[in-house]
Amino acid sequence: MGQKLAAGNWKMNGTAADLAEVEALKAAHPTSTVDILLCPPATLLSRMSDVAKGVIATGGQDCHANASGAHTGDTSAAMLVDAGASYVILGHSERRTDHGETDTDVNAKAQAALANTLIAVVCVGETEAQRDAGQTLTVIGTQLKGSIPEGATGATVVVAYEPVWAIGTGKVPTLEQIAEVHDFMRAELTARFGDTAADMRLLYGGSVKPSNASEIFATSNVDGALVGGASLKAAEFSGIIKAL
Ligand code: 13P
Repeated sequence: MGQKLAAGNWKMNGTAADLAEVEALKAAHPTSTVDILLCPPATLLSRMSDVAKGVIATGGQDCHANASGAHTGDTSAAMLVDAGASYVILGHSERRTDHGETDTDVNAKAQAALANTLIAVVCVGETEAQRDAGQTLTVIGTQLKGSIPEGATGATVVVAYEPVWAIGTGKVPTLEQIAEVHDFMRAELTARFGDTAADMRLLYGGSVKPSNASEIFATSNVDGALVGGASLKAAEFSGIIKAL
């Protein structure tokens, strides 16, 4: 198994004033036995990377599949690296919904990330309607197959399982439901990529808090978390990191 990972997705939150939270988080975890990652908005990435250096890794929340060119408003993988990033979140359900990103799009972005030595955090997850219809594993299987590029390894790809209905809602799947999906993902990835899939970190995301982190981290094939709201404040995110 790869090193455990506590990842924070700041989404569209954060300006210079919030870098104080990064300072506080760094002070709380001067040395850490788990990997800590924060993914701020693109505008803050460079400055956060300077503050976080040495203790906390930083990442983008998306990248374009192309290296450069006429793509107004987009950011390339190389630009994220230039701003200090070592990771990039790809295919978050909010991007799939807000920007119509497909598995094919996510796959192309992940190839660009890997070509630029960024670790890709590829997100998958079913909607509530899909779960109710008994389609969860089929949906996750299709997303994994489509979104993760050939040649992915435990060192270059992290997978985040984020049930859409658990994001920002306070609703969390049962531990049995989390285990079922994570065991399934490990089996699918092993069938496709072989032994390296054992090192691929599988994160759970969706309403993770300090109060539920320990039991989620003790669940089968959970190697960390992708945290939204609770990653914005150092004190709260620190509680989750300690549980890992
Ligand atoms: P919350 O932790 O706010 O539910 O968000 C989860 C998420 O979408 C992280 O990418």
